Amino acid sequence: MSFQATMEAWPRERVEALYAGITPADVEGALSREERSIHDLAALLSPVARPYLEAMAREAQRLTRWHFGRTISLYAPIYISNLCAADCLYCSFASHSGSRDKRTTLGPDEIREECRALAALGYQHVLLLTGEAPRIVPVDYIAGAVAIAREYFSSVSVEVYAMDTAGYAELHRRGLEGVTLYMETYDRDMYRRVHLGGEKMDYGFRLDAIERAGEAGVRRLGLGVLLGLYQWRIEALWLALHARHLQKVCWQSALSVSFPRLRHTPARFRVEHPVSDPEMVQLMLALRLFLPESGFNLSTRESAAFRDRLIPLGITAMSAGSSTRPGGYAIHREECCEGMAETAVLEQFEVEDTRSPGEVVSAIRRAGYDPVWKDFDAAFAPMQLG
Ligand code: SF4
Repeated sequence: MSFQATMEAWPRERVEALYAGITPADVEGALSREERSIHDLAALLSPVARPYLEAMAREAQRLTRWHFGRTISLYAPIYISNLCAADCLYCSFASHSGSRDKRTTLGPDEIREECRALAALGYQHVLLLTGEAPRIVPVDYIAGAVAIAREYFSSVSVEVYAMDTAGYAELHRRGLEGVTLYMETYDRDMYRRVHLGGEKMDYGFRLDAIERAGEAGVRRLGLGVLLGLYQWRIEALWLALHARHLQKVCWQSALSVSFPRLRHTPARFRVEHPVSDPEMVQLMLALRLFLPESGFNLSTRESAAFRDRLIPLGITAMSAGSSTRPGGYAIHREECCEGMAETAVLEQFEVEDTRSPGEVVSAIRRAGYDPVWKDFDAAFAPMQLG
């Protein structure tokens, strides 16, 4: 059951009209309820809700602790390839990004080395990433990488190009637990403007990819929009509709939401709709109140200070000590050093929180939370039944 019909029923004009009618009474009503409607979510996301952020933060904290306890799960990304045939204007991996840094795809032994380095730090959950180059980095290769990673970690997810159901089923068969796939932007016009090449240009195929992963048996599904591409309040409504849709059709899978905010982009791209820190906080709080059982992930794209501030407001998983280049943990580590830029392997984006995993663990403890290296299997169990 495609999500496209829902998107057609909720064009931008309808979302804008919903926001235009929001009053303080709507925000107070939304705050007082346990089960929240799309109208309630619009109230909490609207500018009218700004004076209510403290009350929203208290409710977000209460709901997160109820569903997840005082725990933050830790994970690390492993980039296994930076080859990409797509041309997304905002991304350094894009085929026409202008970067001269090295492109590479890790072989099985190199993947093993990267896994070994992260496992030694204590990680049990990793996210394998590639660009979109299905001819050079086909499903078989990614499935092999999943199988290798499963030798080292109890939970392996991927963030790769959109696949058909058979592709996801093959990854699942090899031990895959999760698929993260951001729509980037749900706005069709903006999607067309920023995606200039590759299979990613097919909006409809990407829109339903995460649902195909659920159909293929993948147990964890991760959603997100690239904050900065389009108007965040409108995107958030569409994202929430997508999440509700997936909760119905992929009820056996657990959902999580990520909040990637565009920062360092290639010179040819300008962030048209920047999202400020207070806006990002409002977005997270409102979505937490609307999706109380969903995991919320926060990557090292955000600064250490901002990540620490967000810990008590609904975050359930954080990456730490991340590298966004293939081989960044064991093989090409030395290429991160100053003065070797001409030989550097291309990274996807510059990490803002450069703390080591140990430093992030200490920050989580200081905030009164327990860092966990294993995922929330127990916490997700009730959701899978219901
Ligand atoms: S966002 Fe993904 S598909 Fe687009 S250029 Fe970057 S790596 Fe390639």
